[in-house]
Amino acid sequence: MEKLNPFEIAQRQLDKCAKTLKLDPGVHAILRVPTRELHVSLPVHMDDGTTRVFQGFRIQYNDARGPTKGGIRFHPEETVDTVRALSAWMTWKCSLLDLPLGGAKGGIICNPREMSENELQRLSRAYINQVWQFIGPGKDIPAPDVYTTSQTMAWMMDEYSKIAGQTQFGVITGKPLNMGGSAGRGDATARGGLYTIREAAREHGIDLKEATVAIQGYGNAGYHAARLCRSLFNSRVVAVSDSKGGIFNGEGLDPEAIREHKTETGSVINMPNTKSVSNEEILELDVDVLIPAAMENVITEKNAPGVRARIVAELANGPSTPEADDILHKNHVHVIPDFLCNAGGVTVSYFEMVQNFYMYYWDEKEIHERLDKKMTDAFHSVLNTSKKHDINMREAAYVVAVKRVVDAMKLRGWI
Ligand code: GLU
Repeated sequence: MEKLNPFEIAQRQLDKCAKTLKLDPGVHAILRVPTRELHVSLPVHMDDGTTRVFQGFRIQYNDARGPTKGGIRFHPEETVDTVRALSAWMTWKCSLLDLPLGGAKGGIICNPREMSENELQRLSRAYINQVWQFIGPGKDIPAPDVYTTSQTMAWMMDEYSKIAGQTQFGVITGKPLNMGGSAGRGDATARGGLYTIREAAREHGIDLKEATVAIQGYGNAGYHAARLCRSLFNSRVVAVSDSKGGIFNGEGLDPEAIREHKTETGSVINMPNTKSVSNEEILELDVDVLIPAAMENVITEKNAPGVRARIVAELANGPSTPEADDILHKNHVHVIPDFLCNAGGVTVSYFEMVQNFYMYYWDEKEIHERLDKKMTDAFHSVLNTSKKHDINMREAAYVVAVKRVVDAMKLRGWI
């Protein structure tokens, strides 16, 4: 995979939008960089008796519209520029969904697959010990992201609550259900993405009952997307992959059986009754819907001409480069851009915060209905803007989101 800098990409995307919106250069300069960055060193006692120091970050990009919000990633290849890019995308995501929140992101450079449960718990608590002054229900509210789970959130909430001297459910979202979590948070990212796929399919006259789907990535978002493609649309998921490789069966795959196989063997590969496909091949399969649900920069100028899907639904953050975007647009591929497509996670996180403040919890049906409305409204505001200005869906999403942030900065008297 090419090593592209996600933050440079995020800045280039914003630069394009600044032109369309004719942004004042000073305002543009504010929006190009994060407001606040915290870099922390985290000493952790390992099970073998040694001490290791991990590097972590929390980056708050812009809080004009409200307290900042965004996940924490545990990843061996985490970089500060990836976290910067992700914090920018969180700002645009919360704005696009019209949530009263700004954007942030956190990350720790570590390999959770090589760490024990106890080591992960100590690392999670060490992180809160270093960042607690900068987060809080009215300041900055973290959540899960790549390789962090509801268990990670429970440890972090507990550590923060100990420091605060009282239970503080509102400091973090994506918590377990009986620990201040929200119904429907587990599959919210995938479910929200599927609502946007439904709207895109309607727009292009695609019958999802007859549609085939390929999914790159089989983590939380990828698995739930596969499951829901079947249960909500009755579509045929013909290929899925993870970091080790992919599998294909033209008759359709069984998402639950794949999940079991992955739990047992550590990967989707070598699943009985499937052919193997590579992570590159999966992007170029002849399917109706392609869902990149893993990492950044997987669709580039090299493989974009080979994408045959009619809809590319970006459940991952930053899966396409700007060059790829232009090619896909020219080839009439409908791209549902990341910070629209994967906004279901933060939207239900926001519902979780509301329920925490309220001390009253909604049932799953209510969450699904509210999520559907938020996602559908956001999709159509992007689609209408794209038609009005004759720009692609990503540029349109930027126009809607950035304009709201600029308006908030004006109202606050910052510009
Ligand atoms: N990490 C998720 C995202 O990238 C969710 C963030 C949140 O819930 O705050 O949108």
